[in-house]
Amino acid sequence: MAPANCEASYVMQEANRCLYCFDAPCIEGCPARVNVPEFVARIRSGDLAGAGKLVYKENPLGWVCGQICPTEDLCAAKCVRGALDGPISIGILQAFACGYAVDHQLVRFHYPSGQLDKRIAVIGGGPAGLSCAHYLRLQSYPVTVFDRENNLGGLLRWGIPSHRLNRAAVDKEIALISSGLQWKRVEVGQSLPNRILTEYDAVFLAPGRWSFPPLAVPGSDLPQVASANIFLKDCAEDNVGSYDLRDKEAAIIGGGSTAIDAARACLEVGARRAIVVYRRGRREMLACSSEYLSAAEAGVEFIWVSNPVSVSKMGEGLSLELDKMTLGETDESGRRQPTPIGRRTSLVIDRVLVAVSSLPESSSLSGWPELEILSSGRPAARCTQNATVPKLFLGGDVIGAGTVVQAVADGKCAAERMHEWLSEQT
Ligand code: SF4
Repeated sequence: MAPANCEASYVMQEANRCLYCFDAPCIEGCPARVNVPEFVARIRSGDLAGAGKLVYKENPLGWVCGQICPTEDLCAAKCVRGALDGPISIGILQAFACGYAVDHQLVRFHYPSGQLDKRIAVIGGGPAGLSCAHYLRLQSYPVTVFDRENNLGGLLRWGIPSHRLNRAAVDKEIALISSGLQWKRVEVGQSLPNRILTEYDAVFLAPGRWSFPPLAVPGSDLPQVASANIFLKDCAEDNVGSYDLRDKEAAIIGGGSTAIDAARACLEVGARRAIVVYRRGRREMLACSSEYLSAAEAGVEFIWVSNPVSVSKMGEGLSLELDKMTLGETDESGRRQPTPIGRRTSLVIDRVLVAVSSLPESSSLSGWPELEILSSGRPAARCTQNATVPKLFLGGDVIGAGTVVQAVADGKCAAERMHEWLSEQT
């Protein structure tokens, strides 16, 4: 986790290293297009509140994103300074400025009180939905957010453990965005889409993703095999007793952030070992290298290029059979394709958590008309209109955003496109 309360001297040192590049490629690396050199210049001049406000102009979850963005794959990957003595710590600077501005109550979003006569529904109160609602409200649209949980925030509340994301930052930023926001707690059901499409002039569908399909191997239905994101949600709700992990060993299948987060959470709730099993190598992991390094430092173990082929009972625990793989040609995902080499090993553990190929829960997409669902299980569009139901827009994890900042960018993009489309209708 980026140290939101890190030393001001480090922040100033980093701000002083910035070259304030004219073309600022770091901005292009940020999906939300935060103006990095401008906010860093404000930090250097001592105007932390101004720096925070600049970030919030482009990203209403600036504090959160400063902590969890995989910056080495985004803005920092493009930083000119990277070729000299290492990229600027943009995430740390962003979190510091936003945290200062919010903690000192120097940020407030000014949603106009006069409202346009177009009603907007946002389905899902996670980062994409909150971002879309935020930018639409700034333009005076009356917005209603529908979410099935008791609190807004989606993945920020249930999917990212506190070692990576400061809970106070989540609470405070959501409080700012949801000030005066109308939202309703609803269960997603077949009748909801029709009702909403009838009652609202435009709809942003951003229900997130909450399901890892079961491992397609024998034994995956054993009670000791569970979904990693449900485990993380149970951790966030302090409800992990049934996992019985104290002094136990867990294998976590997958190579993304959820696998790493779940492994660290296992150790935090008392597991003796947490072993991430990934069918590709470290370089191909979807989790960024800083997540890997801090997990390894926390004691998470890794088994690379190994793929589960079965799970079976062994005494009180489990035996996880693994095919040793080799990596071949690059596939359409841009990563090397794993294939078995005919050698098998086994791992004796107590629990298996699955974090492979998360998909939108099918219930969150059923009932919405004419959604083209790709073979990946996701709808086809990215913050664009549905071809045959033009009032329906999509964004966020449901279409594979992958990061919180991309979900924020999806929400912002959808708000702009909705505004253009609604303006044409009048
Ligand atoms: Fe500063 Fe790096 Fe962006 Fe240049 S590319 S403006 S050095 S953060």
